[in-house]
Amino acid sequence: MSEKVVLSVAAHGDDAEFSAGGTLAKLAGDGCDVYLAIATDNDRGSFRLSNEELRDIARSEAEAAAAALGAKGVFMLGHSDGHLCDVKRTVLRGQVMRLVRQLKADVIFSWDPFAPFEDHPDHRAIAWATSDATSFSHLPLYHPEHLAQGLEPHYVTEWYWYSKADWKTNKLVDISDTMDEKLEALYSYQCQMVLTVDEFLIQARAAGVDESRLADIDPTDYRPWIDAGMRRVNGNLGAKIGATYAEAFRYECVEAPALFEDAF
Ligand SMILES: [Zn+2]
Repeated sequence: MSEKVVLSVAAHGDDAEFSAGGTLAKLAGDGCDVYLAIATDNDRGSFRLSNEELRDIARSEAEAAAAALGAKGVFMLGHSDGHLCDVKRTVLRGQVMRLVRQLKADVIFSWDPFAPFEDHPDHRAIAWATSDATSFSHLPLYHPEHLAQGLEPHYVTEWYWYSKADWKTNKLVDISDTMDEKLEALYSYQCQMVLTVDEFLIQARAAGVDESRLADIDPTDYRPWIDAGMRRVNGNLGAKIGATYAEAFRYECVEAPALFEDAF
């Protein structure tokens, strides 16, 4: 699928990399132009740093992750972590639609607006904004301010919605050749990776895991834990298709209207 433009729209730095990093790296390697949009500045994602400290490093971490994936650029939408639900839905939709029109994006990656049991309000908010924006970006009367600024309506043709559970998964992408790029991209988000291991320890202790198994885990030395965790998750998905590693999606693409089915 060379020459397509791919736009990943995430709520937080690390969302796309955890759920779709291997697939995004694979598409970039195949010649697609891949861009990352991140709606918030991750400024609540730590037990150790202040909001200001987190905001200061959000862009540089995202740019390092984009480089690891072979992406061409990063767009920060500038909202506060955990407060995406306070952003007026049409404002967020307009921001995503503007990027779709500006980049002429063919392929979209994001959280699934229809996935059940999603507990993060930012994930739900960006999922709906992205679904709404990419369903109507070809209609000129939606956000006409974009057209007044020289952009054109644009028709999106493919969607890869992250599939956290088995909910409607219909596409497993073999990422065996890009697992290393996915991990490097994740490691770029140092604060988020430390947070991930910090939370892993809290969860393990709350669940009654014996302290002797946890005492030596240093969250600042996160690579072995992220490596082991992702190889387990993506390895289990890969086993379903006979691959070493895979990522899972609810995939949609434009199909010919039923009236023209016999033309193909
Ligand atoms: Zn997130």
